Amino acid sequence: MCIFCKIVNGEIPNNTVLENDEFIAFEDIHPQSKIHTIVIPKVHVESFAQVSAETMSNITPFIQEVTKKLNVDKDGYRLITNIGSNGGQEVPHLHFHILAGQRVGRLVSK
Ligand code: AMP
Ligand code: ZN
Repeated sequence: MCIFCKIVNGEIPNNTVLENDEFIAFEDIHPQSKIHTIVIPKVHVESFAQVSAETMSNITPFIQEVTKKLNVDKDGYRLITNIGSNGGQEVPHLHFHILAGQRVGRLVSK
């Protein structure tokens, strides 16, 4: 079982920001900005490359709700999902990074 599935199952602790039946948002363990939250579907989906249009449709208002709860919706944030090895994906469970709380710098170098 992947580490994010273990978080969903409660086997690994997390600092939850927001949760519903389908999704959970929690603080990243190694924050890359002042606010760094991870949003995942509770069902295991490997990455954006495999996700259904229905899950993407449902996760959109959830992510928007998370940004309101974090109080970053007005000042802005960066929303990222990494896909596969060239995308820099380390955890093989679809997740969106919300980076906020400061001006986020360049994350990609050639
Ligand atoms: P990615 O490189 O896109 O796969 O990002 C994986 C993210 O998951 C990284 O930012 C990690 O810091 C984060 N992460 C890994 N394990 C945990 C954990 N147990 N709790 C919270 N965040 C985690
Ligand atoms: Zn998983």
